[in-house]
Amino acid sequence: MSDSKTPQGDASVFAKFDIPHTSPVTPVQLGLDDMIQFDCHKGISCFNACCKNIDITLTPYDILRLSRRMGIPTWEFLLKYTMHYDLDAHGMPGMKLRPQEESPACQFLTAQGCSVYDDRPTACRYYALGTMELRRKESDALEDVYFLVKEEHCKGHEEPRTLTVRDYRREQGVEEYDALNRNWIDIIIKKRSSGPTVGAPSQRSLQLFALASYDLDAFREFISSDSFQTMFVLKADELSALQQDDTALLSFATRFLKQVLFGERSIAQREEAVRERYAQRKDIIERRYQDDVERHRLRDPLEDAES
Ligand code: SF4
Ligand code: SF4
Repeated sequence: MSDSKTPQGDASVFAKFDIPHTSPVTPVQLGLDDMIQFDCHKGISCFNACCKNIDITLTPYDILRLSRRMGIPTWEFLLKYTMHYDLDAHGMPGMKLRPQEESPACQFLTAQGCSVYDDRPTACRYYALGTMELRRKESDALEDVYFLVKEEHCKGHEEPRTLTVRDYRREQGVEEYDALNRNWIDIIIKKRSSGPTVGAPSQRSLQLFALASYDLDAFREFISSDSFQTMFVLKADELSALQQDDTALLSFATRFLKQVLFGERSIAQREEAVRERYAQRKDIIERRYQDDVERHRLRDPLEDAES
């Protein structure tokens, strides 16, 4: 199964996932109450065809659900079942489901169908619907729009069942996934739409992004660590709730990322530690600058300005 494809759009259109354009799309925008004709069931002639050549982008909640399903920590799941790709030109790390060693088929595919069906990723739930967020010219608000993905191998479009987009989403359990992924997707969209004005994130920011997005069990350890506690104020009862509740941790992780990437301060910081960290960074940057000047025998524009 491929991710839902997006029609070519103008700059105000953002796909929810990075998607290779290998298949035709019916670029008709659909709203929640529009009707679609589609059905998928075990008796259909193409059963399993969509899972034999996968390109599935994973969200943080997908990874959480699948790792819990398999009874392994997120870092082990990442190692065994995922592969990296770049979400944007700055190298923001993304995750895709890793196919089988010998074929492009999904590792979770069996002759009986999907072996993780109740915990299948968002992209699998959406198929054969595609979705994207659209900002209309007259508005600042982002709006979800949908479209049908029609791939030749998928015979579900020939089935006689009709239903609304809203009912299809409900049937596929998409609403819960969308609710828990929304804040994280907003981060990706904001990062893309800010483009070069924000500049390339530091290596440290990219590492924190990967940690807080995909490896929630390691992130859970991180928020208990001395380095986190030195910088942030997290009361014992808050920490204890985050240690026990996966979805609360997911939500806290996106708040943390908004703080790290965009300076949106929703987690209290220890001001003295922040000042100290800032001074250390400034010192490191100044030392690097001096090293560069000496190494490349550059003329120092600051000295020029003083003379
Ligand atoms: S997770 Fe399940 S539905 Fe999704 S591609 Fe794999 S086998 Fe198919
Ligand atoms: S109908 Fe489409 S989604 Fe369902 S099994 Fe066939 S190819 Fe996959």
